[in-house]
Amino acid sequence: MTDCLFCKIVVKEIPAEIVYETDRTLAFRDINPQAPMHVLVIPKAHHADAAALAQADDGLADDVLKSAHAVATQEGVAEGGYRVVFNTGPGAGQTVFHVHAHVLGGRALSWPPG
Ligand code: AMP
Ligand code: ZN
Repeated sequence: MTDCLFCKIVVKEIPAEIVYETDRTLAFRDINPQAPMHVLVIPKAHHADAAALAQADDGLADDVLKSAHAVATQEGVAEGGYRVVFNTGPGAGQTVFHVHAHVLGGRALSWPPG
């Protein structure tokens, strides 16, 4: 998608601090971190949101989740605990419509979120 911010990060048209990459996923630091470790994991293929990703039915959602865990391990938060969030739809605060998993950690995370 030519007008999609995260597709542009995939093709390196827009810079990002990439921390992890597989053939089908990319992980980079959130530009406005909400925790000491805040990384976004995306599929390289464009899907608007988690609902579309779930329907892709080609194992891509599985890849995104595995990459999220790999990032948490690499960043040293897997043992202490981390959070994976998919804001899905405008009512949930989604602002970039290329599906992304927020991976957050490095501080105590309360529930409900805050
Ligand atoms: P959401 O509100 O769930 O759609 O999340 C979008 C996230 O993308 C926000 O946390 C933003 O801080 C982040 N973001 C927006 N632009 C960039 C960018 N160029 N590089 C890294 N993160 C970005
Ligand atoms: Zn895209």
